[in-house]
Amino acid sequence: MPFVNGKTMLEQARKHGYGVGAFSAHNAETIVAILEAAEEKQAPVMIQIGQKVIQTLGLEPMKAMVDSFAEHYSIPVAIHLDHSREFAQTMRAIQLGFQSVMFDGSALSFEENTTISQRVAAAAKALGIGSEGEIGKIGGTEDDITVDEKDALITTTDEALDFVNATDVDYLAVSIGTAHGIYKETPKLRFERLEEIAKAVNRPIVLHGGSDVPDEQVRQAITLGIAKINVDTELRQAYTKGLQAYMNENPDDFVLANSLGEAGQVMKEKVKEKIDVFGSTGRAADFYVNKKVVTL
Ligand SMILES: [Zn+2]
Repeated sequence: MPFVNGKTMLEQARKHGYGVGAFSAHNAETIVAILEAAEEKQAPVMIQIGQKVIQTLGLEPMKAMVDSFAEHYSIPVAIHLDHSREFAQTMRAIQLGFQSVMFDGSALSFEENTTISQRVAAAAKALGIGSEGEIGKIGGTEDDITVDEKDALITTTDEALDFVNATDVDYLAVSIGTAHGIYKETPKLRFERLEEIAKAVNRPIVLHGGSDVPDEQVRQAITLGIAKINVDTELRQAYTKGLQAYMNENPDDFVLANSLGEAGQVMKEKVKEKIDVFGSTGRAADFYVNKKVVTL
């Protein structure tokens, strides 16, 4: 099985100076699109299960579906729980064998966020699973989480360091000028702050709201400490536009394998583009020893 602990995956990426794409999956076709893209690029990859799809299809079926498809691929994969706001759900994912989990307590007080994130990190660590925490509010909308963009706060180095020291999360999501969703204006990442935080906490940093950030800014952020880049909106757009285009050209084709398959192909190309931008192309090799995947 090609599954790799999220911590191992991101520590490798940080060491070698590239980013791992954490791509959100929403159905069978999007799972396959991500896996095929990563396989063709020979890139390590994270498949994210987010709150929206958990509400509609469920945590267990999504995990089982990714497991089932991933068996047929050779690249290192980590299944990641994205933006969990419930301790119980995060623990359930750990129990189900996710390779990576995020508890997002950024809407809570510092103390509450720290307390729960610490418990999640300890449980994950005991089972060899990577854990992600978030400090600072990331603007925009993702799933059911909305933060007024004006209230989006840039994470301070002190709070990031305090949070990591208190929780020992393996990787940290910070607010450095990105937002979830599509931007009204071109975002400007706060590179100085990112560099300072990454040095202070000395562990991989996660970029949320990775859709629509100019490639040059993403590349620069990777050189300064970003090791995981979350991409969702741009992939959903690619999938939906692919589906719309297919149906416009073939209005009477009701074979879902055709229309959804074509949508998946369009999304796959977008995933491949992102993998190239993040520099993870060909990096699956970092995880093989004697042609076997190092799973931990
Ligand atoms: Zn996010």
